[in-house]
Amino acid sequence: MKKEYDAIIVGGGPGGLAIGCLLAKEGVSAAIIEKDPALGGRFRSVDFHGCRTDCAIHFMASLVGPVENTSMYQMFKHLSLPLEYKIVPWAMGMVTKEKPGEVEYLAMDPELGAANFFNFFAFATGVDMNDSAKDELMRVADITADMSDEECHKVVNISFADWIDQNVTDPIAQAVMYGMEPIVGASPKDINFGYVAKGFGAFKSHGATLIWYPKNGTLETALIVPMTKYFTDHGGEVITNRMVSSIDIEDETVKGVTAVDQGNRFLMEEYSAPVVICAMPIFQAVAHNILRAEHLTPDWAESIKRCAALSGPDMSGFFLLKEKVVPTDGYGWIHIFDTDYGLPTYIGDLTVGSYVNAIEPPGKQLINSLAIGSTPVSQFGLNPTMETVRAAHRRWKESVEKAFPGFNDAIEYEGINLQLNFTRYAYAIVQTELDIQSPNIKGLYFGGDSIWAVGNPMSDKCFQIAFPLCERILENIRS
Ligand SMILES: Cc1cc2nc3c(=O)[nH]c(=O)nc-3n(C[C@H](O)[C@H](O)[C@H](O)COP(=O)(O)OP(=O)(O)OC[C@H]3O[C@@H](n4cnc5c(N)ncnc54)[C@H](O)[C@@H]3O)c2cc1C
Repeated sequence: MKKEYDAIIVGGGPGGLAIGCLLAKEGVSAAIIEKDPALGGRFRSVDFHGCRTDCAIHFMASLVGPVENTSMYQMFKHLSLPLEYKIVPWAMGMVTKEKPGEVEYLAMDPELGAANFFNFFAFATGVDMNDSAKDELMRVADITADMSDEECHKVVNISFADWIDQNVTDPIAQAVMYGMEPIVGASPKDINFGYVAKGFGAFKSHGATLIWYPKNGTLETALIVPMTKYFTDHGGEVITNRMVSSIDIEDETVKGVTAVDQGNRFLMEEYSAPVVICAMPIFQAVAHNILRAEHLTPDWAESIKRCAALSGPDMSGFFLLKEKVVPTDGYGWIHIFDTDYGLPTYIGDLTVGSYVNAIEPPGKQLINSLAIGSTPVSQFGLNPTMETVRAAHRRWKESVEKAFPGFNDAIEYEGINLQLNFTRYAYAIVQTELDIQSPNIKGLYFGGDSIWAVGNPMSDKCFQIAFPLCERILENIRS
């Protein structure tokens, strides 16, 4: 039997839930169809060895000044849901051969503004910055800080590398900018200038990117659970264990979706609605033929292909230590660098479990790691094999051991999780930016973090997109 709704949302990650809650608030009958047993997507928590922690995420970020200005905060306020947060210090840690066991820290301090941001990158790249390089970087910060969102969207077809070549003459300033690759997560030739400008400008206008975290609970308990409750309390329907296999379109108009029951693979179900929101990563939707090429315009298909080509899995590691080895005060999220090769080499990130509100057994310590998987400068390059992943994991452990002696001996349990991180690669240089509404299919909309090439960072984009998305859908439903 066909079930009918006003709107169907494909995917119950933060993006699907954000638009679901906004629609439910407006009395729209909406269903979220999720392939997994529970909602949350890459915000889900994982259980292992008596611990519970986030499966992917390491921090929330604000390019828009105070946390209250982020779209996630605004959304919670709009829904009258409580969201208490804590600011997490963002630090770089470097270990030198000369001083093993001692970590040199350089923190990203919003109070110190753009100059501190450049010192941070000079430190990361090992570049000795002179006054003229600093002046040149400050000039770039001025240009980008003055760019409006609209101007940023206009330069998504110019790569950061081309922009540097044409606008930055000082060789040291150029080296610092090129050296941002491992931290930004892609090569300057692959990233659109609009995205960089949005981020770069924040260091001038707001002092720095602010790193924050919910005050209590993992991302799942602090964000997903209350949003799910809000959605269902306001009449929304959650349908889990259903993998959408196609978004059904006839005469260039959306009709609904077909889903496969994950428990009984022979069972296909049809759900109909005049509005379908694709809130699963669009690259996956295209790769799995859920959205067929003929339902996209050729320039959209080309942009999606470009972004997908940059996509690859990131490696998260979980380390349960028998005792506390990493200091818990002051450094919530640390980039680890190592000077093995002369210049500081980026190893990956480290987050202390207590900062991410993980549940950890008494007397023990939980450390989460992150190594970016898909940049050529990262340890294991594109499309890693298990062997290269293990090598990266080993290398990470060796470097962290130098910083925090005793780390390896204290490991009681360790696990590796590889997950595609579409967020990072959505900002690839594209000729045509995707929009929240299909240009050629009536009733088809897009949500989540993989749509705009420019926007708030990472998961905050899901919430940013949800507001205009809700307005457009309401216009459609009410017209
Ligand atoms: C390793 C890693 C680290 C990250 N670190 C950070 C960080 O530190 N800070 C930050 O802000 N962001 C981080 N992110 C990004 C963040 O996780 C995403 O921005 C956010 O989860 C995007 O939400 P979404 O709803 O768009 O997509 P998702 O969270 O991916 O949700 C999509 C949902 O769609 C479902 N789905 C997929 N296919 C189908 C189908 N065919 N039928 C039905 N359902 C389907 C999925 O199961 C999932 O529940 C990280 C991501 C990764 C992988």
